[in-house]
Amino acid sequence: MTTTPFPTATILGYPRIGPDRELKKALEAFWRGAIPAADAEQAAQDLRRANRARLASLGLGRDDSAIPEASSYYDHVLDTAVAVGAVPARFADVVGPDGAVDLAGYSTIARGRGEDAPLEMTKWFDSNYHYLVPEIGPDTVFRAADRRRAAEVREAVADGFVTRPVLVGPVTFLLLAKPTDDAPEDFRPLDRLADLLPVYAELLAELRAAGAEWVQLDEPALVTDTHTVGREAVLAAVTSAYDALVAAPGRPALLVAAPYGDLRDALAPLVATGIEAVGIDLVRGAQPEDPSVLAGTTVVAGVVDGHNIWRGDLSAALSAASELGAHAAAVSVSPSTSLLHVPHDVSREEHLDPELRSWLAFADQKVSQVVTLARGLTEGQDAVRAELDEAAESLARRASTTGVRIPSIRERVAALTADDAERGDVDDRRTAQQEALGLGLLPTTTIGSFPQTGDIRRSRAAHARGDLSDADYEDAMRAEIARVVALQEDLGLDVVVHGEPERNDMVQYFAENLDGFAVTQHGWVQSYGSRATRPSILWGDVSRPAPITVSWSSYAASLTPKPVKGMLTGPVTILAWSFVRDDQPLGDTALQVALALRDEIADLEAAGIGIVQVDEPALRELLPLRSEDQPAYLDWSVRSFRVATSGVDRATQIHTHLCYSEFAEVIDAIDGLGADVTSIEAARSRMEVVDDVAASGFSRGVGPGVYDIHSPRVPSVAEITGLIETALDGVSTDLLWINPDCGLKTRGYDETVAALRNMVEAANTVRERVRVRA
Ligand code: GLN
Ligand code: ZN
Repeated sequence: MTTTPFPTATILGYPRIGPDRELKKALEAFWRGAIPAADAEQAAQDLRRANRARLASLGLGRDDSAIPEASSYYDHVLDTAVAVGAVPARFADVVGPDGAVDLAGYSTIARGRGEDAPLEMTKWFDSNYHYLVPEIGPDTVFRAADRRRAAEVREAVADGFVTRPVLVGPVTFLLLAKPTDDAPEDFRPLDRLADLLPVYAELLAELRAAGAEWVQLDEPALVTDTHTVGREAVLAAVTSAYDALVAAPGRPALLVAAPYGDLRDALAPLVATGIEAVGIDLVRGAQPEDPSVLAGTTVVAGVVDGHNIWRGDLSAALSAASELGAHAAAVSVSPSTSLLHVPHDVSREEHLDPELRSWLAFADQKVSQVVTLARGLTEGQDAVRAELDEAAESLARRASTTGVRIPSIRERVAALTADDAERGDVDDRRTAQQEALGLGLLPTTTIGSFPQTGDIRRSRAAHARGDLSDADYEDAMRAEIARVVALQEDLGLDVVVHGEPERNDMVQYFAENLDGFAVTQHGWVQSYGSRATRPSILWGDVSRPAPITVSWSSYAASLTPKPVKGMLTGPVTILAWSFVRDDQPLGDTALQVALALRDEIADLEAAGIGIVQVDEPALRELLPLRSEDQPAYLDWSVRSFRVATSGVDRATQIHTHLCYSEFAEVIDAIDGLGADVTSIEAARSRMEVVDDVAASGFSRGVGPGVYDIHSPRVPSVAEITGLIETALDGVSTDLLWINPDCGLKTRGYDETVAALRNMVEAANTVRERVRVRA
């Protein structure tokens, strides 16, 4: 095989939804039935073409495989599943006779249909992107099915490009898959590797025939050690997979990329297979311990952080790339990961402070950076001296700009003692809270938000535009709060919330009200499928210029004799869902956020709010990918929550809420938070979480969600009663709370009222039974 050399500058992937979320709009219009599939496909094609042209104009080669062919209608793991024919049996009808799946069928697999649940969705490594989990069983029939990638390569060739198609690699694909429901207990998807490889070989040959000279196979699963499969089996799979693919006839050259961490002991066996190039993440990972293994290989040095939006240190990146390159046959430069995790173009952010803007690099700026670095590698440092100096000056300015380091905030963090994270004995607290709140058995509550109606969104948008005065906006929100409080009283809920109508988003709302954050106008990042979020930028030291939630919560409390629960987002979640400064450890930043929240909680308490919930749905999300890194993370994450919540009297009840049901996985962290009451998702897993709660001996209040808010379905009284009874098998009567799985903001009012009514009635039924039993 003759191999065309790998380009010196490349990227591993590019944002897929379009600078103005064009793909999202087209897809959702198609799903609504507003446009035919052909129009959505046209929009996707326009976007692919625009992206290729844009990347070429930024300096990536048009015809040397530098531009990745990595678009997706919904998710790249689903794309790979469809490409290898791994469509679950319940969706067999959407697969055409030749194996192809059209856009409607593909959407059905992604989004579900009636009783047919979609593929499960879960987090993609340590990013905020979520992928669809393939289902693989002993009987899954693999075949080279979907030809979409090859068609895209041909489309590019017709436009004068030679692009590099990207697929999820076979080992990662199987490691990320879950066994089908009917698979035997000891079956693991990785067992099917030998059956899958011929299909990959066929796909590779097709891509070559379509005009691809290089193909990129992504193998990020090799950088983690948290699989159910042992490391030895993973390494053996690497060897057999790439031995087979390297030997495949008619294949293109192979780049195997391993973003999100360090390949460690997988590097040597991977390279030994004879793949032409290996992509190494030098941002999260380190220089290889034994770089001599790279001698015959091209390395693609991931030296520009693909995960964050900071401009970074270009000189350091250049040194790291040349250091790595010194041991390899050839070296190229790339971001550490796909640029899917960053927005398109910072130059569009006209409202950002120009100084802050000059510290940032979104996807397009990162492309320019790798082009510069590649020039530095081939032509020598002096050729790019001006760019390196400019980046260094920007970093220096950033370090000395007012607001980045505020001595009073730093002193306060430094002065924190162990006592500041201590709330005293749990039983004392329980007694004091019992007296203060006077709640009965099995208290009912919600997770915070109530449905965000069109009226609420319109008021907020009008206020943001300046079309609605502060006073009128405030009136509109107060009217909504009054409605929500009256509704909760009517339903008979025991602990009332204000409903969060004033919040666009549970993180952005706090970012807008804290100093040290900035918000973007166009900074959209794909979260999953057609959903995108606009993370805030945490750039400086964080402080709270004024109380944030106190007036809303106090207003709600003024309307009802029942206890009102204040509602805040916790430090870990605020960090996890923002772009966070990279010039100090996350734990230091978390403590600053924690202190701002601590002041907010003190003000809520002073205003007479006796219960405060601090949501940490992202606690598990930030859990490091390597188990050896987890204790340090748990240390700072737990400490920041405790600092936020430990300033209150023992009679003030602290709640927390977590959005997942993997209680056992993070039990140490949950326990460490020390919240008086923890609500957690449970309905979808039929209360399986309760076994974990029981096994852990958890001794504080717990509210396993009794109904799933992710669908409009209204559960019956009998169903909820059954779930509460199941919960009581594992949780003692005086610790159990009754609540839904999560906030209600995405639901409509009709289903919400019906479901909550059934929930309260179910709670009453069980209380009665408990009394009789006693
Ligand atoms: N309090 C938030 C709400 O109810 C919690 C949301 C979440 O857990 N993601 O919307
Ligand atoms: Zn939740």
